Amino acid sequence: MPIQRPHILLFGPPGAGKSTQSALLVRKWPLVALSTGKLLREEVAQGTAIGAQVRDTLARGQLVPDDMMIDIIRIWLAQLPPDKGFLLDGFPRTVRQAQALDGLLAEAKRPLTAVIKLNLSVSEAVARLGGRRICYGAGPEEIIHINDEAAVARCIQRGGLLVQRPDDLPNAIVNRLAVHDAETEPLMDFYRPAGLTHVVDAVGAPEDIARRIIAAVEGMVPRP
Ligand code: AMP
Repeated sequence: MPIQRPHILLFGPPGAGKSTQSALLVRKWPLVALSTGKLLREEVAQGTAIGAQVRDTLARGQLVPDDMMIDIIRIWLAQLPPDKGFLLDGFPRTVRQAQALDGLLAEAKRPLTAVIKLNLSVSEAVARLGGRRICYGAGPEEIIHINDEAAVARCIQRGGLLVQRPDDLPNAIVNRLAVHDAETEPLMDFYRPAGLTHVVDAVGAPEDIARRIIAAVEGMVPRP
């Protein structure tokens, strides 16, 4: 039976393309997607109280405290429409967050369908992050690589600005990759016993990677 409204967690090192994939996957299923990193960056940009609390942590490439993240997800899940699935990109990032999410999902009777890990080598992640820019102010934000001359020219012609995320600077990249290895990578062990995990190669055209993810999710046996 095809999957109707999956509940997906998308993992992978920084630079693996989680947001890009999230944007493609919402076209396949009726999903609400949440990128916790994007949400936090918006709080910073808007100068909210949360933004002020997390700004330096984000810029250093460290993790925001678990309690704050769990509260954000609790509120977000409570507002999730019942006729939609969900895709979380960037949460959970620690075992404590994963344990809390388990409890929240059990309460909401929304079991996970799949935990997808996008696999990428460290050297490829560093190359992607170091060259990553956001085209800002020319329509919807677009992630582009500085070596993609056509995309750079298109952004500038449309009056956009090429912005580098503070956490895409070298020191922060090193921190983010280290935090990912120490805190987030072990989550695959956390979810493996439930038979939910699937590793997908994150190299290739975004549409091809999306097809691999869809095949992986469709291959998961839905739990009652
Ligand atoms: P991302 O866009 O997923 O790379 O996230 C950017 C930054 O937001 C991370 O480096 C963390 O500082 C913060 N962040 C996002 N999600 C979480 C989370 N689940 N737990 C703690 N910090 C997070």
